[in-house]
Amino acid sequence: MILRPLLSLTLGLEAILLARTLVLIALIPPLVGLLPGAKATGAGASAMRTRKPSGHDIALSLGSSWIFALGGAVVIQADGLGLTRLIHEPGSPWWLAPLEFVGVLLLQDTLFYGLHRLMHHRFCYRWLHQGHHHSRQPTGWTAFAFDAGEGLLQAGFLVSVVFLIPLQSATLLALLLTMSAWAVVNHLDPAHESESPRSERLGGWLIGPTHHGLHHRRPGRNFGLYFTFWDRFCGTAEPSA
Ligand SMILES: [Zn+2]
Repeated sequence: MILRPLLSLTLGLEAILLARTLVLIALIPPLVGLLPGAKATGAGASAMRTRKPSGHDIALSLGSSWIFALGGAVVIQADGLGLTRLIHEPGSPWWLAPLEFVGVLLLQDTLFYGLHRLMHHRFCYRWLHQGHHHSRQPTGWTAFAFDAGEGLLQAGFLVSVVFLIPLQSATLLALLLTMSAWAVVNHLDPAHESESPRSERLGGWLIGPTHHGLHHRRPGRNFGLYFTFWDRFCGTAEPSA
């Protein structure tokens, strides 16, 4: 009784996720390349436009997207039963949405930093994270290329958030879009390794393609997702940063 709508929702969400991936991969490199002063990201954008995505990354992206689609379907069904903490009614104070938005990004960034370091441990790497590092030169497809275990952990975070944290539905949508777009931006691999992570925006506190590109070249450094402070605080920032 519940299984059929769950399957239908999963199929529909899978189509949406595929469309999202194709649109972001097509639009983000030229848009980032247009940013004023984005020397490093501009180089990455032009490199990415000409780089052929690996079949491995495409296959892994398509495979793991089913996990996210299933997670989304579970959330929609649970929300229909009133089991989530999503807020659909208008009337929340204006300052709540940005607070929720930044709070969830900070929470995800903190959890991801610890999880990312754990996934690079030799006991976990092969099972959880090796697939994401298959391509030494990332492309937009790498942003969504996860082994099943990592896909479950990442989707599990998003599903847990809607069950545990009161969030306006518009904020959740903005978060999902931001997370997806930021993932693609981080995988615009800079063409020149010597470019300093200081070239990232906002004085180097936000992670971008230079910072994360170095992680793909030297996986023992730069574990952060959105912000650089955990790498700085824990001493895992690339020394040239
Ligand atoms: Zn990694």
